[in-house]
Amino acid sequence: KLRDPDQPEFHQAAEEVLSSLWPFLEDNPKYLNNGIIERMLEPERVIMFRVPWVDDHGQVHVNRGFRVQMSSAIGPYKGGLRFHPSVNLGVLKFLAFEQVFKNALTSLPMGGGKGGSDFDPKGKSNAEVMRFCQSFMTELARHIGEDLDIPAGDIGVGAREIGFMYGQYKRLRNEFTSVLTGKGLSYGGSLVRPEATGFGCVYFAEQMLRQQGRGFSGQRVCISGSGNVAQFAALKVMELGGRVMSVSDSGGTLHFPDGMTEHQWQALMNLKNERRGRLEEFASEEGVEYLAGHRPWHLPCDIALPCATQNELNGDDARTLVANGCHCVAEGANMPSTLEAVDVFIEQRILFAPGKAANAGGVAVSGLEMSQNAMRLHWSAGEVDERLHSIMQSIHAACERYGKEEDGYINYVKGANIAGFVKVADAMLAQGVV
Ligand code: NDP
Repeated sequence: KLRDPDQPEFHQAAEEVLSSLWPFLEDNPKYLNNGIIERMLEPERVIMFRVPWVDDHGQVHVNRGFRVQMSSAIGPYKGGLRFHPSVNLGVLKFLAFEQVFKNALTSLPMGGGKGGSDFDPKGKSNAEVMRFCQSFMTELARHIGEDLDIPAGDIGVGAREIGFMYGQYKRLRNEFTSVLTGKGLSYGGSLVRPEATGFGCVYFAEQMLRQQGRGFSGQRVCISGSGNVAQFAALKVMELGGRVMSVSDSGGTLHFPDGMTEHQWQALMNLKNERRGRLEEFASEEGVEYLAGHRPWHLPCDIALPCATQNELNGDDARTLVANGCHCVAEGANMPSTLEAVDVFIEQRILFAPGKAANAGGVAVSGLEMSQNAMRLHWSAGEVDERLHSIMQSIHAACERYGKEEDGYINYVKGANIAGFVKVADAMLAQGVV
C-alpha cells in the first residue's frame, strides 16, 4: 500500500535508495525482518506549525512552518531549514531522509532532520525577513536544542536568516549555545562554513576524476544555481584551473563562453549576496550571454555540477550532456537529477556522484562548527579546510568500498546508500525496536 501518495519527492528519494540497497539487503538478511527499512521511512517526529507575521504595511500573513526529525539513531537531529514557496511536507521528508544517510557518511555523530517554511524571502525587506524569522523561531525553539536538534541553512536561508533566528532563540531561552550552525563568525560561526558545500563538492569530484588520471585543469564545467553552493563550487573550480561555463537562477542561465573570470565571480557575489538581484541584470555585461528561461545542460561541457534544486536535470538533459562529451557529474544540490537521469549516467558509465555523498561537506563543517563551539575555540581556515578535504576523501573511499562493480566502475549511488545505511542500521539494531 502506497502511503502518502501526495509526496512524490519523498517516494523518489526512497525508491532511489531502496532499489540500490536491495541486493545488499538480500545478502545481509540481518537487516531484514526487523522493521529497519519501515522505521527509516517513517520520521521519528514531525512538527508543523503556524507562522504569523506582519509585513511593512501592517498586513498579517500566515505561513506554514515544519521540522521533520527523521532519525536520531547515531546522533542529534541535524539538517537545514529551507524557505521557499515550494516547501511542503513531502519535500522536507525527502530532504530529511537523504540527510540521515549523508550525515552518517561524514563519520560525525549526527542524526538527520530537515525543516523550513513555504515563506518566500524574495522581494521582502530586511525587517520583514527578521519578523518572519523571529516568529518562526518562537515556535521552533521549543523543539530544538544543542543536544537535540541543530538546524542550519538551505535554500533561502543564509547568514542573514540564521542571524535573526539565532538572536530570537537566545532571547527566548536565555542561553548561548550551538543550537544553529552557519552562524556568523562574530558569534560562534566556523571559518569555511559558507564555502564548505561548494568546495566539498569539487573536492569530491576531484577524487572521482583522479580515478581516471584526470583533474579539473582545462575542463569546461557547467554549474547550475547561483546561490551559496554554486558560488563556492565555481570559485574552487577556477582555483583548480577549470573553466566555469555557466551559473543559473530560476529566471535563466548565464553563459560564459570563455569561462568565468575572477572579476565576474566577485560581481556575482555582490549581485546575489549584497543586492539580492537576478542574473538577468548581467545580460548586458561583456563576455556573458544570458539565456532567459534556459537551464545550462545543453551547453557543451566536460563536467556538470547541478547546484540549484531537486529535479532540475531530467533524462533528456542527461542524454544531451553525455552526447556533448560530459564525463563527470557531481551533485551539489539535493536530488537535482531525476531517477531517469541517474539511470542514463550509470548505464553510460559516466562518473556520477549523488548529493548525499558530493554535498556532504556543508553538514560536515556544520559538525565541526558544533565541535568548536563545544570546545569554546576557533580553528583557522586552513585547519577546517584540511578536515573538510579529508572528510570528502573518506566519503569517496566509503563509496568505492561498497560501490565498485565487477567491471571496475564505481557506482557511487550504490556505494553511498550502502555505506550510510550500514552505519545507521547497525545503531538501530543495537538500540532495539524504538
Ligand atoms: P540558495 O538559496 O543559496 O541558492 C539556491 C539557488 O538555486 C538559487 O540560484 C536559486 O535561484 C536556485 N533555485 C532554487 N529553487 C529553484 C527552482 N525551483 N528552480 C530553479 N532554480 C532554483 O541555496 P543553496 O545554494 O544553499 O542550496 C542549493 C542546493 O544545495 C539545494 O538543493 C540545497 O538543499 C543543497 N545543499 C545546500 C547546502 C548548504 O550548505 N547550503 C548543503 C547541502 C546541500 P532563484 O534565486 O532564482 O530561486
